[in-house]
Amino acid sequence: MWKDCKKWVYSITYDEGCQELLKHALPVHRRYGVPGHVALLASQIGVARDVPGSSYHGMMILSREEIEMLGEEGWGVSNHGMTHAGINDENAEYEVVESRKVIEEALETSIPIFCVPNNNESYPASKAVADKAGYTAIMTLYDQVNCIDTDLYRLGRVALHTEYPPPFYSVFDPYKRLHQAIDLGGWVIDYCHSPAPGKAIHPWKDCTTEELDKRFETVLRVGGDDVWLADPNEVVEYILETRSD
Ligand SMILES: [Zn+2]
Repeated sequence: MWKDCKKWVYSITYDEGCQELLKHALPVHRRYGVPGHVALLASQIGVARDVPGSSYHGMMILSREEIEMLGEEGWGVSNHGMTHAGINDENAEYEVVESRKVIEEALETSIPIFCVPNNNESYPASKAVADKAGYTAIMTLYDQVNCIDTDLYRLGRVALHTEYPPPFYSVFDPYKRLHQAIDLGGWVIDYCHSPAPGKAIHPWKDCTTEELDKRFETVLRVGGDDVWLADPNEVVEYILETRSD
């Protein structure tokens, strides 16, 4: 059983933390009362994104003040690495361990979750240093529902995208994994980057603002009073409390 006797949990995360979230996602969050969460690069706060080879290059990233404003509305923050490099045994100390100190200093807050950048090939080397770095959880790109006894160092996330890359081309599904989460009493963590009205910036990395709206409407309609809408940091904290009882 989850907090306040809720039967399942819904969270959503936005990798990179683009400033456009304020314009194209925050109003939808406010309308439905869903808290958000941004996974930020420690080296990229309040700047135009400057990461070699990034498909979001040049987009403004949320500033500390904007992140604090979101925090007051229940949003959380995790660390997405220092530079978005693929993580291996050689750079894990810098990308996973040192970056946590940098982002905690920049935001003056504790960052409990590491969010694996690029793809799951970065996961093993991230996991190897996560405990040493002081993280209590890792968010991955394994597309799965989490449960209350889930391995916190391997949290799955569900891609909330307009269309999948080849060879699947799956189209947007506002019900994706929700009934599975209801059956299991589980926890869905959606992820995308920066929703935009009408057309996704990258259809296999994003949804549109309209699809985001449809997703939240569906979560509330099928979830009713049973769903706990929560920032992942809060859910991790709750799970840890439950386990220490
Ligand atoms: Zn990323």
